[in-house]
Amino acid sequence: MLRKTRKLFLISGLLLLFVIVFGVPYLSAAEKKHLVMIDPAHGGQDTGVKITDKVGEKDITLAIALALQKELAKEGHLEIVLTRNADKEISFEERRKNISKIKPDVFLSLHINAGFGKSSTGFEIYYPGFKDITDQKKQVKDGQKDARNKYLNDSVRLAQIIQKNLDSLFPRKGRGLREAETPILEGINIPAVVVEIGFGTNPEERKKLLSTSGQSEIAKTLARGIKIFF
Ligand SMILES: [Zn+2]
Repeated sequence: MLRKTRKLFLISGLLLLFVIVFGVPYLSAAEKKHLVMIDPAHGGQDTGVKITDKVGEKDITLAIALALQKELAKEGHLEIVLTRNADKEISFEERRKNISKIKPDVFLSLHINAGFGKSSTGFEIYYPGFKDITDQKKQVKDGQKDARNKYLNDSVRLAQIIQKNLDSLFPRKGRGLREAETPILEGINIPAVVVEIGFGTNPEERKKLLSTSGQSEIAKTLARGIKIFF
């Protein structure tokens, strides 16, 4: 009997040791929060596209960003930071400084589009271009290049996920993914996309962009994309 008890002690002791050695790192990995940075474009004097006499692009991007923040905050493992949470002008440089200081895991910039006539509709998604790597005459270390490529690949993946989700909200309205130079992100290695959510110049889309229910629908769709990305 004594021997059996000793054996049992030994086994449970080993089990405990296993949990201490291997269990703790797993636990802390699971608790690590992903940092999402949302950028409601424009603000203050910089109104962006005029949507109505009183409402500008800056108001819609802020409303959607706040709704998106609320939606993402429901996820325990996500932490959300906004480049602005009020109607104030923030310079390009300030936004850039904040990105490099906070180093988010993803960066999502929100804009509203405008066309010359009423007929342009749909969303557009931009991701940082590969162009500046190939164009650079400066020597870039291979390691840096690899890191940069990884972030660009992640940006494309995020753009594709968001596209797929927005497709369900704006059927057949996707104008595709576009590679573009994104000066706001130059030299900052993080997965990032710029979304032109819809056209303020199209009556149907304007209605959706101006309504609280439309804004919340858009926010929920973007949130779904970000959750899938992680
Ligand atoms: Zn804009």
